[in-house]
Amino acid sequence: MADVRLEGINKAYGTIQILRNVDLIIEHGEFVVFVGPSGSGKSTLLRMIGGLERISGGRLLIDNEVVNDVDAADRNIGMVFQSYALYPHMTVRENLAFPLRMANVTKAGIEARVAETASLLQIDHLLERKPRQLSGGQRQRVAIGRAIVREPKVFLFDEPLSNLDTELRVQMRVQIAKLHKQLGNTMIYVTHDQVEAMTMADKIVVLKDGNIEQVGSPHDLYHNPASRFVAGFIGSPKMNFLSGHIESAHATGMGVKLDAGATILVPVQPNQSLVGKPITVGIRPDDFSPSAAEKTDIGIEIDVDFVEHLGSVTYIYGNAGRESMVAKAPNAAAPSRSGKVRLAASPADCHLFMMNGNALRRLHAPANWS
Ligand code: ADP
Ligand code: MG
Repeated sequence: MADVRLEGINKAYGTIQILRNVDLIIEHGEFVVFVGPSGSGKSTLLRMIGGLERISGGRLLIDNEVVNDVDAADRNIGMVFQSYALYPHMTVRENLAFPLRMANVTKAGIEARVAETASLLQIDHLLERKPRQLSGGQRQRVAIGRAIVREPKVFLFDEPLSNLDTELRVQMRVQIAKLHKQLGNTMIYVTHDQVEAMTMADKIVVLKDGNIEQVGSPHDLYHNPASRFVAGFIGSPKMNFLSGHIESAHATGMGVKLDAGATILVPVQPNQSLVGKPITVGIRPDDFSPSAAEKTDIGIEIDVDFVEHLGSVTYIYGNAGRESMVAKAPNAAAPSRSGKVRLAASPADCHLFMMNGNALRRLHAPANWS
């Protein structure tokens, strides 16, 4: 049974359309991440689900009940935002107890729920402190505690880790993912950070300019991006894009001539009408190897201008003709700083994007690992 269902959801501020016909089904217990650049409409969508923002059009259902006009307080939803919004004059214990007191829970009930929540988030030892006596990470754990203490059906998170330093962010990411496993509730999490999305989500919703660009598992989005936008947004370093044009269509794929020189047969759904048309070839930095394994591999010569040694992996940055490139190089084969290297990639690892940005379906993308 779907926990949250969006049907043709629209949002406008005055005459400005912010979200357009958003359709989405979120199953019970799923961890769903809304990801997209700043201004793409993630917070607005989340706030409409939470009841903090009016819905201009369409239907929002929670547990099969239309809740467009139901107050935030009556939606059984817990929310955590980037700024923690704890009551500064209350201790952690009082902060956690507050939502329960508002809901008229008994004293014994409050004590039990606060103790349980504190233990789950490992903040038992902080219960008598005030928020100002806590670190950023501890404060954010209390904010999460306050959202979960009432045992809501659905949790909403809006960039809850953005104010934390990198190390703490990684720790909290793991904690929230574990919390989701323990509680098994539906969680909807907003972030502009694709790494957070990839590491936490069961299902990622990519937003761009108020539209859903693609919905899928992290694996789907990485291996079968539906558009050049998604391909460029998911994955770090970013996918390389090379221009070329379609020379031929075959049952086994499309023949592409790259402006950089090589001609390759890319195993994608063939489409005769594209022959002669310009095309963009996408290759992930990780799909390059230092030399061709097969005669059919593409070879590209790169003028290296920067080498980034990260320990287990080395990335080389440079240009192929007029196009800037990033490629993973095994440590042993990496050039010291600058110079030329010849890299190869298998056509099976290439993505093709038409001029409208849509991808051609790959015939041999790796099977889902789940
Ligand atoms: P995101 O969370 O993805 O960064 P938002 O949902 O906050 O994006 O904003 C989406 C768009 O809606 C932005 O262009 C923003 O300027 C606009 N917007 C947000 N709130 C308001 C408002 N109260 N009035 C007018 N425009 C708004
Ligand atoms: Mg936002």
